[in-house]
Amino acid sequence: METNNKKSSIKTVNPFTNKVEKEFEVMTDEEVDIVIDKAAKAFNTWKNVSFPERAKIIHKVASIMRERKEALGKLATIEMGKLLRESIYEVELSANIFDYFAKNAEKFLADHSLETEKGEAFICYEPIGVLLSIQPWNFPYYQITRSAASNLMAGNTMVLKHASNVPQCAQIMEDIFKEAGLPDGVYNNLFVPGNAVGKLVSDPRIKAVSLTGSEAAGASIAAAAGANVKKSTLELGGSDPFIVLEDADLDKAAETAVYGRMWNAGQVCVSPKRIIVPESKKTEFLNKVKVIFGKLKVGNPLDADTDVAPLSSEKAAQDVEKQIQKAAQQGAKIELGGKRLDRPGAFLEPTLITGVTPDMDAFYEEIFGPVFVLYSYKTVEDAIKLANATDFGLGGTVLGKDIEKAKAVARKINTGMVYINHVTGIAPELPFGGTKRSGYGREQSPAAIYEFVNAKLIRVTEPDNLY
Ligand code: NAP
Repeated sequence: METNNKKSSIKTVNPFTNKVEKEFEVMTDEEVDIVIDKAAKAFNTWKNVSFPERAKIIHKVASIMRERKEALGKLATIEMGKLLRESIYEVELSANIFDYFAKNAEKFLADHSLETEKGEAFICYEPIGVLLSIQPWNFPYYQITRSAASNLMAGNTMVLKHASNVPQCAQIMEDIFKEAGLPDGVYNNLFVPGNAVGKLVSDPRIKAVSLTGSEAAGASIAAAAGANVKKSTLELGGSDPFIVLEDADLDKAAETAVYGRMWNAGQVCVSPKRIIVPESKKTEFLNKVKVIFGKLKVGNPLDADTDVAPLSSEKAAQDVEKQIQKAAQQGAKIELGGKRLDRPGAFLEPTLITGVTPDMDAFYEEIFGPVFVLYSYKTVEDAIKLANATDFGLGGTVLGKDIEKAKAVARKINTGMVYINHVTGIAPELPFGGTKRSGYGREQSPAAIYEFVNAKLIRVTEPDNLY
């Protein structure tokens, strides 16, 4: 609900202007209780709705999103600042994910028979109830979709707590679900701040929790889930390596790395955050990167020729600037950029850093902004060691002409996803998720739909046939 309460933390602040555009009322505990109750009651009927009926509604969600991709895209750009073309791409991708699960859920969740020595045995998959889903702002539609598409098709219901800075995207998705025919209570927004969500995990009507966001938020939600013996999945931060092998095309590598890193102003969990090139090619690569940096146009995210958008908020820009300053104080070299732009909005110059070493914080931290950190290696083993010298384990890229060699390197990188010759090729049928401190569990692909269902064994045999 929109509000005149100027103290609400749930609001749209356009990062291009830093002006407040719309505020929403924070839900009271009583209102939250009503929402969870609606979701719990809706589960009793939604779980029995047939797959074709569910699919009809979810396909409709996809088609509404496609029809309105420009308007939806513009809204995301206004709320969190990303380039309009990136917002529109995100809407199209989300529609594809909804279609994928609408089309395939029945097949994925069909009974699975098991070979057993005695009698008959099979697994049947049952939805478990209300999922609490907590999502970040950097892909306002895609993050909802990744969580909702598989779970709604599986027969679960959801309460979704979106990031406080994207309430209009949250609201419009709830409206689209309704318009598509989703029964009341199956999908519900919670307009509450992040620090008010942890206590909901212990609510007996909530059966599981899924969080995408920071390590700190993930750890506290997972602790609450553990204490209440509830299943959780976490998709957290990353510090993805981007390894350029000796035989890679250096021009292509420089271009792929720069545009990959500047995507969404560097606020992508699977962005190439550590670029690792052969020592012998470092100077040549650095020069190529500098030329590309020189052409980057930072500006209005609604303009088609802008390359680098503002960050999602003033605070985000300040935080990244501080990380850069700290890296410089600790001895790293800021080759280009590093400062705020002299204009309104949450802008930060695209930044190129070299000379980061293991005794600096920047070596370990995730930098969530347009910051390109360049490393070099002498042997491929050194490159792999460097790639794995992080507590994160989300994604990574290997570039090289010899695909078998690139695959061998990919196998040695300790992350949930490695992309060869490209940055983060997201598709509905491909799993998304990490390992180590980047979290656990998978979204997208068939794997996603098994996260929050009860895989129940049914076995048939006579008692006297058991031993
Ligand atoms: P964040 O602060 O953790 O926020 C993410 C969500 O969690 C928001 O809805 C937030 O609500 C909520 N939240 C915050 N504190 C919470 C708490 N103590 N308990 C429960 N919920 C809480 O994350 P962020 O810094 O905005 O987002 C960027 C991070 O997300 C980066 O580390 C990025 O790498 C990661 N990320 C990961 C993936 C992935 O798939 N692995 C995808 C996108 C982003 P409020 O907005 O109300 O605070």
